[in-house]
Amino acid sequence: MKTDHEQGRGVIERYREFLPISDSTPVVSLGEGDTPLVYSARLSARVGRGCKVFVKNEGVNPTGSFKDRGMTVAVSKALEGKARALICASTGNTSASAAAYAARAVIPCVVILPAGKIASGKLVQAFACGAKIVPIKGNFDDALRIVRELGERNDFAIVNSINPDRIAGQKTAAFEIVDALGDAPDFHLLPLGNAGNMTAYWTGYREYHARERSTKLPAMIGFQATGAAPIFHGKIIEEPETIASAIRIGNPASWKQARVAIDESSGAVDVVSDEEIVGAQMWLAQNEGVFVEPASAATIAGLFKCCDSKEAACSFQKIPEASRIVCTVTGHGLKDPDVIMRQMGDLKPVDANGREVLHAIGL
Ligand SMILES: *Cc1c(COP(=O)(O)O)cnc(C)c1O
Repeated sequence: MKTDHEQGRGVIERYREFLPISDSTPVVSLGEGDTPLVYSARLSARVGRGCKVFVKNEGVNPTGSFKDRGMTVAVSKALEGKARALICASTGNTSASAAAYAARAVIPCVVILPAGKIASGKLVQAFACGAKIVPIKGNFDDALRIVRELGERNDFAIVNSINPDRIAGQKTAAFEIVDALGDAPDFHLLPLGNAGNMTAYWTGYREYHARERSTKLPAMIGFQATGAAPIFHGKIIEEPETIASAIRIGNPASWKQARVAIDESSGAVDVVSDEEIVGAQMWLAQNEGVFVEPASAATIAGLFKCCDSKEAACSFQKIPEASRIVCTVTGHGLKDPDVIMRQMGDLKPVDANGREVLHAIGL
C-alpha cells in the first residue's frame, strides 16, 4: 500500500528526471496529469484512410484544465524560491489553477482578469479557493502587461506561462502520449491562445525523441479563433473577439516559440469560426461523451476543417495512410456553461405522469 504522502501521484513524481526539481523542492501537487487518451472510432472514420484519432482529455485534471500540469511545477518552485505571493493574468483557467495550488501551498494568490470576460465556472473556482481577484477594464493582453510590471517587484512569483516552470510542467502531456502510444503521433492538434501549450508539447516531444523514447516527431497543428488569430495573420490583434474565451488573445506571449514549433515540425496554423467551434463542442459531447469548453473544441473544429477542405492549412486529403493523430482538448465543458445554456433554451415542465412524459419525448 502507498503511504499517505504517495497517494495521487502527480506529474512531478512521475517525470521528476525531466523537470527542474531537486530534493529540496517542496512538491505542491493535486495529483494532476495521467489524463485519458481516448481512441475515437468516429473521428477516425471521419478522417478516413486508416487513420487513427485519439483525444487527450485534459479537462479531467484537478481544476479541469491542462494548466494544472504547469502550475504544480511553478508553485513548487515559487515556494522553493521563498516567494511571498503568486500573481497571474488569466482568461480564466490559469487563475482557477493558480488559486487551487496556492491554497494547497498556503500562499496568497492575486489574479488579474479582464472584467466581465471570464467564464462563470472559472471565476467561481478562483473565488472559492480564496484568490484575491482584481478585474481590470482591459483585455487579457493588458492584464499580462500589468503582471509583468508587478512581477519586477520580487515578492511576487509570476505563474503565467512566461514562467519557464509552467512550460516544463506542461510538456509532461507529450510524455504521456508517447508513453501510451509507444511512439509519438504523426500529427498533434491543439488550440493556440498564448501559445505556451504548443511550446510545451513541442519541448516534450523533442526531449523524449532526444532520449530515444520515440522514433519520430509529430507535425504540430495549432488552431485560433477567426476573431483572435494573431499567429495566423502574423500581426497583433488589438481587440480579439471569440466565444472561446480561453483563446481570446491578441498578442501571444509565446508567439515566437510557437512559430518555431510549427516551422520545425512542418506543422501549420489555421483558424476556425465561433460557429464551427460550438458545432464541434456539441458534436464531441454527443458522439463521444466528452464535454469540453469552447476553446478546446477549436481543436475538433480544426480537425473537421482539415478533413473537409483542400484549402485548410493542414489538409488530411494528402496525409499518409494510417497516420496517428492526437487532438488535445484543453479544458472541461462545465467551466463555461453559458454557451451551451443558450443552445438549450427554456425547458418546459410537463404534468407529473407517464402519459405526459411519453408525449413530451414524442412517443
Ligand atoms: C489556456 C488555455 C488554452 C490556451 O493555451 P495557451 O497555452 O495559452 O495557448 C486553451 N484552452 C484552454 C481550456 C485553456 O485553459
